[in-house]
Amino acid sequence: MPRRLAILGSTGSIGVQALDVVARSDELEVVALSASSGWESLLEQARRYGVKRIALADPDAAARAGEAWTDGEVLTGPEGLVRLITECECDMVLNAIVGSAGLVPTVAALGEGIELALANKESLVVGGELVTALAQATGAAMIPVDSEHSALHQLLAAEGPGTVDRLTLTASGGPFRGMRARELEDVTVEQALAHPTWAMGGKITIDSATLMNKGLELIEAHHLFGTPYDQIDVVVHPQSIIHSLIGLCDGATLAHLGYPDMRVPISYALHYPERVDVPVTPLDLVALGALTFEAPDEETFACLRLAREAAIAGGTATCTLNAANEVAVHAFLGGRLRFMEIAVVIEETLERLPAGRVHSFDTLASADAQARRTAGELVSARAPA
Ligand code: NAD
Ligand code: MG
Repeated sequence: MPRRLAILGSTGSIGVQALDVVARSDELEVVALSASSGWESLLEQARRYGVKRIALADPDAAARAGEAWTDGEVLTGPEGLVRLITECECDMVLNAIVGSAGLVPTVAALGEGIELALANKESLVVGGELVTALAQATGAAMIPVDSEHSALHQLLAAEGPGTVDRLTLTASGGPFRGMRARELEDVTVEQALAHPTWAMGGKITIDSATLMNKGLELIEAHHLFGTPYDQIDVVVHPQSIIHSLIGLCDGATLAHLGYPDMRVPISYALHYPERVDVPVTPLDLVALGALTFEAPDEETFACLRLAREAAIAGGTATCTLNAANEVAVHAFLGGRLRFMEIAVVIEETLERLPAGRVHSFDTLASADAQARRTAGELVSARAPA
């Protein structure tokens, strides 16, 4: 019997590559798909993969899809997405939604005890403690899709308790590696979107340019593997060939290598614990010649420092960090904020909203809303008249 999958965010960068993995695998079947508003692409995917139920976050898009589609059902809104997950009788949910909108579906899947292939790192940044506690309570596994965390998941699989001293996350450094604050003042959206090694959705590409992506991944790694923050390092590795490393108590360090291609970690998560063929170019170390490493420049790329500080502060701080980042990145992509102001807006939002304790998912929803309001005001105050 193939594994039944629900793919959330199927029209995005990860979603489309996941469908490519599914198309090549006899082990997988898609039973539900979702997107934000791109109803035409979503319907095309549903028809191609024989899916009978979809969800669109946007009600207008859902209404238009409903009119155009006579042999399937269209759900809408956050409640529609939750119904899609809980009623589709799937074995695994791939959460490839971008942003904190991914938290509710993560909770819905884990709450039902459904295995979760997790690309949406924001779920763990916003609600790490509650999400991991929920997964433990229901026994649902979370398999990371993020390439660094997929690498760590594979490296850690063979290690017994107490043998792992350190985790090292690699970072490409993004398109502005080596540049200083003064040179970054006038960079354009187009320059920030030109990632040197990975082709990804807009938000994560900007996060990679600011190094916020690595900050979010630090928090993601802490929650996935239960590793204290002072045992997680970040190293810049511009070729993106080593996806992460673990340091062991006997002095050995293990690394996971491969060309940057998200179909590899997507396939790993969707088939776990099995492995299947993925048509990628075998690694040619001689052609690569050299792999290089450098320390991240946290003075220029303040977002990594801000993420680390929020992580250590704990409570609602990482939820606030994430929401402010989403608002600031959205404003930058819309031409309403300059590149170097992204970190400024996040830092000021965190200063205005001190971390509080997280009692429930409701605490997180209000911290998220409050941070969005504050960051929005800070963006407006800076926007050119
Ligand atoms: P993307 O922008 O290309 O796609 C996002 C998908 O989510 C789309 O299908 C969109 O319709 C849907 N979506 C957006 N907002 C929504 C909402 N409010 N409600 C419901 N659906 C919504 O993003 P992506 O690059 O594929 O990234 C998806 C997630 O995977 C992010 O959390 C990202 O950090 C993570 N990730 C991506 C990559 C990559 O290579 N793209 C690598 C590692 C991790
Ligand atoms: Mg990553």
